[in-house]
Amino acid sequence: MSTPARQQYLRIKQQYPDAILFFRLGDFYETFDEDAKIVSSELDIVLTSREVRGKKIPMAGVPYHAAEGYIAKLIANGHKVAICDQIGEPDGKNLVERKVTRVLTPGTVDHPSLIEAQRNNYLMALCFSRGRVGLAFADVSTGDFYATEITGEDRLDKLRDEITRIQPSEVLVSEGPDKVHTSEEHVWMKQSGHPAQITVLESWKWKTDVARDSVLSLTDAQSLEAFGLDSMPVALKSAGALVQYISDTNPAALSTLRPPSTYFLSNFMPLDDRTRRNLELIESTRGDKSLSLLAVLDHTSTAMGARMLRNWINQPLISKESIENRLNRVQEFVAHSEARERIREALKQVSDLERLANRLVQKTITPRELRSLALSLEKIPELVQILQQCNMQLQVSIHNFQHIVDLILSALVDDPPAVRGSGTIIREGYSQELDRLRSASTNAKQWIASLERKEREATGIKNLRIGYNKVFGYYIEVTNSFKHLVPDRYIRKQTLVGAERFITPELKEYESLILNSQTEAETIEEQLLDELITRIAGEAGKIFSTARQIAEIDCYVSLAEAAVRHQYVRPIVSEDDVIEIKGGRHPVVELRASEGFVPNDAFLDQETHQVLILTGPNMAGKSTYLRQVALITLMAQIGSFVPADSARIGIVDRIFTRVGAQDDIASGQSTFMVEMTETAYILAHCTPKSLVILDEIGRGTSTYDGMAIAQAVVEYLHNNTRTRARTLFATHYHELTSLEEFLPRVKNFRMEVLEEGNDVVFLRKVVPGGADKSYGIHVAKLAGIPKSVIRRAQELLKELEAQLKKEEEDDNPQLTFLNPDDGLLQELADLDVESMTPVEALTKLFEIRQRAATKLLDLSNP
Ligand code: ADP
Ligand code: MG
Repeated sequence: MSTPARQQYLRIKQQYPDAILFFRLGDFYETFDEDAKIVSSELDIVLTSREVRGKKIPMAGVPYHAAEGYIAKLIANGHKVAICDQIGEPDGKNLVERKVTRVLTPGTVDHPSLIEAQRNNYLMALCFSRGRVGLAFADVSTGDFYATEITGEDRLDKLRDEITRIQPSEVLVSEGPDKVHTSEEHVWMKQSGHPAQITVLESWKWKTDVARDSVLSLTDAQSLEAFGLDSMPVALKSAGALVQYISDTNPAALSTLRPPSTYFLSNFMPLDDRTRRNLELIESTRGDKSLSLLAVLDHTSTAMGARMLRNWINQPLISKESIENRLNRVQEFVAHSEARERIREALKQVSDLERLANRLVQKTITPRELRSLALSLEKIPELVQILQQCNMQLQVSIHNFQHIVDLILSALVDDPPAVRGSGTIIREGYSQELDRLRSASTNAKQWIASLERKEREATGIKNLRIGYNKVFGYYIEVTNSFKHLVPDRYIRKQTLVGAERFITPELKEYESLILNSQTEAETIEEQLLDELITRIAGEAGKIFSTARQIAEIDCYVSLAEAAVRHQYVRPIVSEDDVIEIKGGRHPVVELRASEGFVPNDAFLDQETHQVLILTGPNMAGKSTYLRQVALITLMAQIGSFVPADSARIGIVDRIFTRVGAQDDIASGQSTFMVEMTETAYILAHCTPKSLVILDEIGRGTSTYDGMAIAQAVVEYLHNNTRTRARTLFATHYHELTSLEEFLPRVKNFRMEVLEEGNDVVFLRKVVPGGADKSYGIHVAKLAGIPKSVIRRAQELLKELEAQLKKEEEDDNPQLTFLNPDDGLLQELADLDVESMTPVEALTKLFEIRQRAATKLLDLSNP
């Protein structure tokens, strides 16, 4: 590298300090200095060096035509890559001009090899201001762009839920007032522990007037009113910063970015990350995607459909009308099996129109993708016809694209190359000029091919050969044994060990004919392709809206397919507060239950069945039942049919879950603390419209503590009008069943088991009434604990039971948890729960726990 080039490099690098600069030098992208060290170690590329003015500069390079894979890896490792290309042709004298044409970052990449087909790749911008959070996010590969504002005291909780729903791969925040990276949103993002890359943008990029201009530049509109952004000033700032960032990193993507559509969180059911994980919506708690609700429901045929369905599951609806709308459509496809089957077949041949349309507008679409665009659009009339045939009430105003299809198919060869410049693109008969050039080249090639025979005859050199190489072009080769026969008109070009190579003026003439017509043909092909793309790009808007509708149809068909395959029924959704399920099943567990799944009913309301306490031994099926009720409710609210004989779902505003007692080892919190934090969150946020699932709370501490807390929580939910949520409470503390006696809206249920001698058979049936004992030893046996240990445990249990009985006879009051004489209990009963804040309630619980523990200690050390 010469010194001027080095200076050019340093000048450009200075503008992109936080990106790895890929500097185009000939056929390579080179990186230097620190960048080179990173590239070399992360990509396993040899670190070399170059001397500039006697100084060794570390260097590592990748071939430019294979750069994509390397870039993908760097981005996956959390780096940004700035691509610096040559603009203008090198003339051998002056330094060729170079410019950064793109910066690749996790949130702005759109190349198919860098993103997943089945999910959106979102870039998000966050702005905290005046008690509001402005949130904007966009997927540059599809052009989707959304914005909203979050207000209220719990806005940070809601924001956290939105971030876990959207799963952005990169989040933009503002720089702090002192220009160091300490803006409030930056600090918050860091603390939230979300894996997204955080990128800090200068504060002027968040200014309102800059934002207004940026957003308006995406449309012809004169005002922001049309997008609802005029009433969301903070969301506008975020949207503006997001547009700024895209224009800095991937300017071509601006041409397909739609203006932001605003939405309101209040139109959807909020789902916190815990609930999403506890209910195993997208993957199981162990990370298995095939054991999720999504896997059971996803029978989509297109990538756009798959992305949309995933978004539906992550964002259930809460308005009866919008739920019914979806259910109606699903029902149509359930009823029309043949049409459904044909649509699925047709959709399987439709490629990712959303992303293709995007690449079309950005002119990055490849010849092969162009053809697959045509083949996909060609399927649309068939789709429309099937939909009409079965009289479906779908608002299908899908456009007719036959002219585009004809244009593409008549222009391109049947098997166009995956990248430009690597094979024939344009079909014969499309352009007269191209055809003429091609036949000129073919004729010349034929002439040369026939030359070998002609020259052999003319000279008598039997093994004369016509060859071609890149340096000399076409030549005539004569071995030394025939040297004496070479005629004068041959011009010597090259001498080899056993042969000599010659040319003739005539040969060179044909050669240049071939070369010229080939280059010319290639140029014309490129031109024709560009013209074609430009013409079709004008239709991209229509292709987008069609893609949207196809994705939606794909989702309805997918939900219908799942409904038919797994025998789901249409739920009746209502605005009252009753959940009534007959013969309900767990959509995921039922598919794995080798001995058949036992269906169960459920009834919850506000009058008599507000809190169901479900007792039963370990492994009896409590957790499955709880999740199944929650999942059926959630499925109904995304517009899906449900696994039941019948279901009436009074729409819930939110589902809260507190499941299992898993240690949150990663964050170093103890089980009990996690449990209590989560429980406090539920108590603070649930409403009479909510559904609360509490699975074994109080498990993370000693028995008495646990029971005390569990009981206090149930009382709180039961007695407080603000938190009177429909609640399912599973516990192995059978003592809690006594709550039914004094809390009118609490009802006991248990998992039915059958005892046969020392064996217990799980019937998996939920029946009224409480369990009267645990079956721990039985479970131990199932788990394979040695027989001798089991026998010993049974002996001990008998002894303990006998001892307990004796103590009861001795009337030892302290040992009975629900003794009315107990001061602790009295205090619990006297608590004015309604007027307590959740924090006060929690503090009280801790105090009670402390005293209970002391009391127990007193008991054991009299
Ligand atoms: P618990 O929470 O009471 O310990 P689980 O709900 O975890 O029990 O259920 C234990 C196992 O029992 C599950 O993994 C599942 O295989 C099976 N199971 C649960 N409910 C049913 C059912 N209704 N029908 C058939 N098998 C079930
Ligand atoms: Mg359980």
